[in-house]
Amino acid sequence: ASAVATLDCVADFPILARPVKGKRLVYLDNGATTQKPSSVIEAETRYYEQSNANIHRGVHWLSQHATDLYEQGRERVRQLLNAARSEEIVFTRGTTEAINLVASSWGRSALKTGDEILITGMEHHSNIVPWQMLCEQTGALLKVVPVTDSGEVELDQFRSMLNERTRLVAVAHVSNALGTVNPVAEITQLAHAVGAKVLIDGAQAVAHQVVDVQAIDCDFYAFSAHKLYGPTGIGALYARYDILKDMPPWQGGGDMIYTVSFEGSTYADVPQRFEAGTPNIAGVVGMDAAIQYVQQLGLERIAAHEQFLLDLATAQLAELPGMRLIGTSAHKAAILSFVVEGIHPHDLGTILDTEGVAIRAGHHCAMPLMTRFGIPGTARAAFALYNTADDVTALVAALKIAQKMFGTGPRG
Ligand code: PMP
Repeated sequence: ASAVATLDCVADFPILARPVKGKRLVYLDNGATTQKPSSVIEAETRYYEQSNANIHRGVHWLSQHATDLYEQGRERVRQLLNAARSEEIVFTRGTTEAINLVASSWGRSALKTGDEILITGMEHHSNIVPWQMLCEQTGALLKVVPVTDSGEVELDQFRSMLNERTRLVAVAHVSNALGTVNPVAEITQLAHAVGAKVLIDGAQAVAHQVVDVQAIDCDFYAFSAHKLYGPTGIGALYARYDILKDMPPWQGGGDMIYTVSFEGSTYADVPQRFEAGTPNIAGVVGMDAAIQYVQQLGLERIAAHEQFLLDLATAQLAELPGMRLIGTSAHKAAILSFVVEGIHPHDLGTILDTEGVAIRAGHHCAMPLMTRFGIPGTARAAFALYNTADDVTALVAALKIAQKMFGTGPRG
């Protein structure tokens, strides 16, 4: 293990120093949200102390200053995703709002009866429900590409389901419930070959690997800052300029118009057209600091560190009796989803909590996927850059305690 370059970032995250239930906090619920480094917390505080004003409207110095910070945040997101231009970045409340924006704006204007939308069997509810709503509104059909026993997209099935009616393929970059990293560039290439657009749900990807929207060649990419060590309530949509510039607005209000009269209004250029109302300016500043934080560490190093933790945890969990991993693809992010024979995932979560180990238990907003595997839910340990080999040890020790309590552990 010492040969592996590992990170030591615990001290950057104040919350990791607080005990929970008298125990050291072992935070493994990073798929739900990540903790925030001091630099992010300080950036938001500093914004309110030194820079707060409304943007794009004041003639005064402070308003211009806040606008500059906000637009600097847009440039930082452009860098993170390697988008070609910053106008391709629209700030949203997060992944969910970004997907809803595409469904409401692009979807309602581009789709008609008989058109098809393809998603996969491992999507998060936020990459299912907006498309179901869009299908109800337009008469389009939602089709689902099946998932293999190891938790991968059935690519042969995907190929055969694509046709000239397919208008959109919407797929997770990384599955929150399985950890599978999907071959999004290959999926995009196949989808483009039939003229379909591609939306990638990057909620579980951006914090854990390098993402390059130009290399993937996707049309839309969505993510949330709170899973990237940034604040809640902020995130972004990347949309290819050629598509975005022709998309109609979805929310009306201030800051998204060019002119307004009672006879009608004309709309602002992109991306302002999609940012009605006063946005989460402090959130953008916090997200900017979060992106700088991961950029300074380097996403390659972060990915290598998390891969080390994944390998370590996978090997140690495999030694526990009655352990069943859900999601065994060779292409995985550091998410371990599992069921333990004889112990309900919620009981597991509760017992682990008494040991200071925070995991998630449940359906992970992927109920159809749980149905696919014939289980009500899983226990999920999702690693982040601040986790350590000690955290893996603590997880395994807590699981052993749970098995002992339930009398399902190793005998003798
Ligand atoms: N997609 C995936 C794969 C996710 O893991 C999540 C968050 N659990 C979302 C979408 C939704 O993200 P948010 O709640 O931040 O909008």
